[in-house]
Amino acid sequence: MVYSDHIYVEEELLDACDPYHLQTERIIDFFKDRQIIPIGHYKDVFNRSRQDVCIQADNKKIIIARKRGRLVYEGAPVCQSFGNSHFFYTSCVMNCIFDCSYCYLKGMYPSANIVIFVNIEDIFSRIEDLLKLYPVYLCVSYDTDLLGLEDITGYVKKWSGFASCHRDLTVEIRTKCGRVDVYDALDKTDNVIFAYSLSPDEVISAYEKKNAGLISRIKAAEAAMNAGFPVRFCFDPMIRINNWKEAYAGMFEEICRRIDIKRVKDHSVGSFRISADYLKKMRERYVNEPLIWYPFSEDKGYYSYAREISDEMESFMEGLITKKDPAASVFRWRDETGR
Ligand code: SF4
Repeated sequence: MVYSDHIYVEEELLDACDPYHLQTERIIDFFKDRQIIPIGHYKDVFNRSRQDVCIQADNKKIIIARKRGRLVYEGAPVCQSFGNSHFFYTSCVMNCIFDCSYCYLKGMYPSANIVIFVNIEDIFSRIEDLLKLYPVYLCVSYDTDLLGLEDITGYVKKWSGFASCHRDLTVEIRTKCGRVDVYDALDKTDNVIFAYSLSPDEVISAYEKKNAGLISRIKAAEAAMNAGFPVRFCFDPMIRINNWKEAYAGMFEEICRRIDIKRVKDHSVGSFRISADYLKKMRERYVNEPLIWYPFSEDKGYYSYAREISDEMESFMEGLITKKDPAASVFRWRDETGR
């Protein structure tokens, strides 16, 4: 939950002459009766020592900042490129209004507060530089859920507008948000993929407590399709709950009851995996979270289920999909990394 009774703002963005002052004001205006606390640099607040991320998670503050240094990064090995040669990601927001138990952000950042970088146009310029070299595949909603923040930032609209003018750019917006009301307001373009992460309700109620339920996500995905956007289904991360086979089969049946699965552009399938560093931090911070204490296997700095377990889970999911749609494109992260 975002409860910004006070908002931290980098001082220079409060200056009316700053090119990103108006965008800053728009975000501030979203929160009524808020107190503004000027700061020099977002890291002064975000990287403070001795923060309790568990307490912050129920009372997330907004930090408004300018993104400096590297604006675009090469895709990480635990992420899927979907066959794209030039795979990048960017973070115009750090942290998420949701709070999934397994989310790597809990081990990656020193704070649960949400940093919104207002200079998204600087990121656009950097991408235009890359587009002079080759077509770009760009994930923009890894370190947050941009659809969940759309009322505050308007960034999904900005990305769809930018992508609609750059045909060699493909943008993936990953989400677990159940909103159906955003799509009519966006620039219609087939190079923005809305990637819906879908989980059985058993997983959602245990580990994705603040996210939309399965049926809401299916309805939202359908709204995106009806508005003309390509939609990807991400069965990722699959979680090995007790009755996982029944749960995932039941989820897929529910999806197929409500949606023509052949309308889905492609599918991503992956079992839970995480970098060793992030898992170590999560275990220090969330000692009572059983999911992260599973005896995962470690390989080259990453933890995941043992090879035979993840193979079994991912093959099962792939089988469900291809049984319904033999021509479906299914991407599994191990296929790409060999991990
Ligand atoms: S929705 Fe995604 S980014 Fe947000 S907490 Fe869940 S896993 Fe993390």
